[in-house]
Parts: sequence; C-alpha cells; structure tokens
Amino acid sequence: MLNVPSQSFPAPSSQQRAASGGRSKVPLKQGRSLMDWIRLTKSGKDLTGLKGRLIEVTEEELKKHNTKNDCWICIRGLVYNVSPYMEYHPGGEDELMRAAGSDGTDLFDQVHRWVNYESMLRECLVGRMAVKPAVPKDCREEKKVLNGMLPKSQVTGMLAKESPVSPSYDWFQTDSSVTIVIYTKQKDINLESVIVDHQFDTFRAETIIKDYSYLVHVGLSHEIQEDFSVRVVKNVGKIEIVLKKKENTSWECLGRPLENHNLLILKKDTGLYYRKCQLISKETVTHDVKFFCLMLPRSTHLQVPVGQHVYLKLTITGTEIVKPYTPVPDSLFSEFKEPVLPNNKYIYFLIKIYPAGLFTPQLDHLQIGDFVSVSSPEGNFKISQFQELEDFFLLAAGTGFTPMVKVLNYALNNVPSLRKVKLMFFNKTEDDIIWRSQLEKLSFKDKRFDVEFVLSAPTSEWNGKTGYISSGLLSEFLKRSSDRSKVLICVCGPMPFTEQGIRVLHDLNFSKDEVHSFTG
Ligand code: FAD
Ligand code: NAD
Repeated sequence: MLNVPSQSFPAPSSQQRAASGGRSKVPLKQGRSLMDWIRLTKSGKDLTGLKGRLIEVTEEELKKHNTKNDCWICIRGLVYNVSPYMEYHPGGEDELMRAAGSDGTDLFDQVHRWVNYESMLRECLVGRMAVKPAVPKDCREEKKVLNGMLPKSQVTGMLAKESPVSPSYDWFQTDSSVTIVIYTKQKDINLESVIVDHQFDTFRAETIIKDYSYLVHVGLSHEIQEDFSVRVVKNVGKIEIVLKKKENTSWECLGRPLENHNLLILKKDTGLYYRKCQLISKETVTHDVKFFCLMLPRSTHLQVPVGQHVYLKLTITGTEIVKPYTPVPDSLFSEFKEPVLPNNKYIYFLIKIYPAGLFTPQLDHLQIGDFVSVSSPEGNFKISQFQELEDFFLLAAGTGFTPMVKVLNYALNNVPSLRKVKLMFFNKTEDDIIWRSQLEKLSFKDKRFDVEFVLSAPTSEWNGKTGYISSGLLSEFLKRSSDRSKVLICVCGPMPFTEQGIRVLHDLNFSKDEVHSFTG
C-alpha cells in the first residue's frame, strides 16, 4: 500500500487554499497562468519525457521520481509527471512536492476533488500503477443483482461504522409506466435527497443520505420518454420515480447494472456527475456581476439544497475547466417552498466576471442557447443548524453574498423560532453591492431582517460604515436578542475576509458550533 501523509493539503497559508475559497493569490510568474499551461499542453511538446508512450509504474519506480525536476504523482491509479506543471500550479511548487513520488489521491481529494486533473494533466500522463493504490475494490465492481436487494455483506463491507442502514430498491410496471421505488429507511428525506438523470438508455438515480450516496444505475432494457416524476413519501422514507414507457410492452427486467449500481458509498469516494444545461438568459446586476439562468434538461431531477454549491464545467481551448458556484433563487422575495415542476427546472447564479480570470470571461461569452455542464450539489451546510434558531447573523463580502441568499430566504420562511436576521455586507464600493435595493426592500418588508453595508474603498459621499471586517464593526452588530438566545453566524467572502472574520468571532467568544463558514 502506498503511504499517503495525512497533513492538510494545501497548507493553510498556501495560495491554492486562497484560490479555492477566495481571490487573494500570490502572483504566479509572468507567462505561468492556467491559460499559459493550457497553451503549453496543446503545443505538442513531450511533457512526460516518454514520447507519448504509457508505462506500468511500480511503487518502487514511483518513489524514485521525487524531486522538483523529476516529480511523479499518482492520482487514482494514474501516474503523472508534474514537473513541467510546477511553475503553473496556483498552489505553488511546495504543495505539489508533498505528494512527490507517492499516491497524492487523498491529499488531492481533501481540497479539490472537483478539479479536472485528468483533462489538465492529460499530456503529463506517464501511465498506470502496476499495483492499484487504495481504491476500495467493491466500489468498482458491477453488481449483477437487479430488482432486489444485494446480500448485506456486499453492501456494508466497505462502510464505516456510523454509515446509515443501506437502502434498497424495487420496480414495478403498468402498461404505460415503470415505477422505481427506493427504500431509504430514513425519515428526513425530501425531493432534494434524490438526483435523477437519464440519457439515451442510461438511468441514474442518486440518493444522498448524510455523507453517503446510494445509486440506482442501469442501462434500461426498453426506451422511456424524456420526462418523469419523482415523489417522496417522507414518513416511510420512500422515493418513487415514475418513468413513462415509450411503447406499451411488458418489461422482463429493468436493465443491466452499471457502475456502482445498488451500492451505498461515501460521497467523497464518488466522482462528480454532470449534465448539460442550456443558457436561458444573462442579465447585468452590477458593473461586473451578472445573473445567469440555466435550464436543466427535462430528463434531470435536481434541486440544490440550501447552503450548497455546484460546479460548472466548460471546455476552454480543449481543456475541461471546473469552478464552483452557488445557485440563488430568482429573487430575494421568492417564497421558500419546495419547488414544484416545472419551476425547479431553472437554476440561477450571480456570477462576477473577472476580466483577467480564466473561467468567467468564457462563461460571459456564452450565447443564449449554449450549454454549460452543471454538477450535482456539494457542501456541508446542514438544515439542522436552523433548529430553534433565534438570532441569525450573515457576514458576506462581494460574491460571498451568494450562499447567504438561500439561507436567508429559508430562515425567514421556515424557522418559527427566528427573532432576527442581520446581514453585514462588505464591498469595495457602492457600485459593487449586489441586489442592494432588494435587500433594502426586504428589510422594510420584514421587520426581523436588517442589512448594513460596509465599504472598503468608498467615495467621499459615503457616510455609512467603512473598513475591513473587525471586532470594532462586529461587536455591536452581533448583539444577541437575549443572553442565552440560540445564534448562528454564517461567513463567506475572499479567504482573508473569512479567516479574519473567524478570528474576530473567536475573540468575541462565539463557539465553533455558532459559526458556519462557506469555503467550498
Ligand atoms: P480566476 O482565473 O480564478 O481569476 C480571478 C482573479 O484572480 C482575476 O482577476 C485574476 O487575474 C486573478 N488571479 C488568478 N490567479 C492569480 C494568481 N496566481 N495571482 C494573482 N492573481 C491571480 N463566484 C461567483 O461569482 N458566484 C458564486 O456563486 C460563487 N460561488 C462559489 C462557491 C464556492 C464554494 C467557491 C469556493 C467559490 C465560488 N465563487 C463564486 C468563486 C468562483 O468559483 C471562481 O473562483 C471565480 O468565478 C473566479 O473564476 P475565474 O476562473 O474567472 O477567475
Ligand atoms: P472583492 O474583492 O470585491 O472584496 C469584497 C470585500 O471583501 C472587500 O470590500 C473587503 O471588505 C473584503 N476583503 C477583500 N480582501 C480582504 C482582505 N484581504 N482582508 C479582509 N477583507 C477583505 O470580493 P469578490 O471579488 O467579490 O470575491 C468574493 C470571494 O468570495 C471570492 O474569492 C469567491 O471565491 C468567494 N466565494 C466563496 C463562496 C463559497 O465558498 N461558498 C461563494 C461565493 C464566493
């Protein structure tokens, strides 16, 4: 077994960490941007030193390549020569060197499981490990059992002790429909708990249960229509997916099992699944923020839970680039109800366009009708954090406002114990404030809600609060409605903002349980 060091990757101070959650980055050398890297990979230069040959790499061989000029790293069984990439890595050389000559899968997953290394490092591929590194064997196997439960041993063998009881599924049919029933054996499921996609004959229903994912994944035996319905029977933890047959024939079986079918596996061990969504509209919000509306395919059921984000994927000069974004409702005033089809077919984003950025200018160049790939949701915010909540404080900076929109909306509409919600919104200038008039209207309309704007680079006309996040600004703002009131404080913005915010909150004696930071 390859031995992977367990230290945090990247280091807390590294620029890659800043890159994943914030904009403060240590500049790379001139000519070493991600775009320059993409150009180099397309130049036809031999980046592995093996002239395009792929080899089988033994552990002994891998270990030998552990210097900056000769650095091989294994990720999920594939070995890359990352030396040519060193100077282009946003996290810096030291960060990559932590995994030099070893299996970097765990280190990689800790921070950016979502980064498309396969695409980014394609030209650096040396070959495959001769002995496969630590991928649980069961996860890769196709299971032959359909229309029934797997033997318990196959399901639970790879799970941790605290794993939920394994779900099972069944199916039945009428002349015109096929109903797939997933028995989750959980009470707290809802329409967000299941994500359904079908494309051609492939059907995929992923049920999220805590940190686990249960998949019904089959190549259907017969054709079905594009749309289908999903119903959740909460009190018994049952999910019903009703598919419409294309022809009224009787099906002998549901289909053939595909990868990870009928398995309960840790979410972190599954890859991200993407579907193509169409750009429906793009509107200007501020001088650099735009409101994007994407439409999910009819053959997808997906609702992004409160506090979670998705990944958008575009192919830029032949390389797949992925970045995280947080969906928002279409306005601050959207009543927070469980969306009913077909309204939940749209997914909205507030996205800041960075002229010198890699991804957002490409996104901005998309025409109405073009497609973007959207992943399934991720994130560690838990609705249970709202239980008995009385005082809710939101500290947002710039586009760090985006995760606040849904949590704010949810709290105001679904938390009966709530007494007040206060947003402190940090921006550089007045022109940068997203949805300012909506926020002001909401505070007028709902007496529990208050908003305060703080500017770090105001004009001389500004007579509101100024500066960066500090205890001076927060101590008064974060007053509890009573000594023992239940408090939650959400923080999101550039990484230095979030880190500074957390330090201040600690100094002000708020406990870890009372603070949630959105960092991705
Ligand atoms: P990048 O290429 O990352 O560049 C951004 C800026 O940094 C540019 O000005 C560029 O010149 C500069 N820069 C890049 N690299 C360096 C470097 N090495 N040194 C110095 N400067 C550098 N953003 C939103 O707008 N809306 C959202 O809803 C949203 N949700 C998010 C959710 C999560 C969980 C996370 C982690 C981030 C979220 N973001 C969101 C940020 C988003 O993921 C991207 O980081 C952002 O859109 C910038 O991407 P880009 O590729 O266009 O820019
Ligand atoms: P920005 O550069 O416009 O800055 C907004 C405000 O952040 C500033 O006015 C200031 O008050 C504060 N700030 C900036 N740098 C600071 C520093 N060094 N120390 C203390 N405070 C500082 O912000 P932006 O360009 O809109 O960037 C928003 C950031 O939020 C991005 O980095 C993005 O990745 C992040 N984001 C994260 C998530 C998430 O993790 N879920 C979601 C959305 C956005």
